[in-house]
Amino acid sequence: MKTISTISELRGLCDTVRGDGATVGFVPTMGFFHAGHVSLMRYARSAHDLVVASIFVNPLQFGENEDLDRYPRDLEGDARHATAAGVDVLFVPSVDEMYPGGNPRTTVHVEGLTTPMCGAARPGHFDGVTTVCAKLFAVVGASTVYMGRKDLQQWLVVRQMAADLNLPVEVVGAPVVREADGLAMSSRNAYLSREHRATAPVLYRALAAGVEQIRAGERRAEAVREGVVAMVGTEPQVSLEYCDVRSVPELETQHRLEGELAIAVAATLGSTRLIDNVVLTVTPAGIEADLGTIVGEGFSTSHANHTASTQ
Ligand code: AMP
Repeated sequence: MKTISTISELRGLCDTVRGDGATVGFVPTMGFFHAGHVSLMRYARSAHDLVVASIFVNPLQFGENEDLDRYPRDLEGDARHATAAGVDVLFVPSVDEMYPGGNPRTTVHVEGLTTPMCGAARPGHFDGVTTVCAKLFAVVGASTVYMGRKDLQQWLVVRQMAADLNLPVEVVGAPVVREADGLAMSSRNAYLSREHRATAPVLYRALAAGVEQIRAGERRAEAVREGVVAMVGTEPQVSLEYCDVRSVPELETQHRLEGELAIAVAATLGSTRLIDNVVLTVTPAGIEADLGTIVGEGFSTSHANHTASTQ
């Protein structure tokens, strides 16, 4: 695996391989890899000749009081995981390489989809995401981009941006990868104290219970929402930021449950913010739910410089 830190080298390499008829799969990340990231790399590996993954902790998508400075990093561990997953090129640009001269004067904003859910709690966050993704896509060029549906809204926003701007990428959303107890894998799980780590899977259990309620015949979105909120509420350490039942891909509020839907939650435990969701299809014949894939413990704690906070 080759590590590249300049835009010109990565662009040159991607152009050259495409010139030879090869296809490119691209996995943009902020690093501190876990099995969720690795699943995206494996999807890319199975479908493309050249697999590029990027690691860039993008200052533009962090709010003033967010965790930019303490965001976990482990380049050595990440390089090992990426190599094992079959990544050909790890792109690790500096902030100066991506934003020479400071914040860019041009930013990308996706209307509508960025308003609810995480957009309401994190003003400017999605503009930071779409701006950096537009820049990365401009460097990598024609490719298939693999993103996780764990960040459902992010995936839908970036996909919309790529379509609206005619970017030469297809943005694929891959299933949520979970720890053995159901907690959605996230680099931010490293912040959780032991106690909060034990409590956090209530988000998954609440979403799964919501799915069961629908499976049992409930079709009122508010009743399902209330069930999820009540179950999360059994853990007083978990402060629920939102629980929304929305259509996919438009992210419109739902009253009656039909068609493609998501139940999505965001919550904080101490100072750690976690998000999770389940996507489901409700038809007169019944429901199909995608709760993701349980992978098992061990992977996400294998970083050398992992430091759990003591909150
Ligand atoms: P991040 O490094 O957190 O910005 O995530 C990089 C990519 O990995 C994004 O497309 C995320 O949606 C995806 N991802 C993060 N966690 C998971 C997970 N548990 N399952 C699937 N994909 C994930």
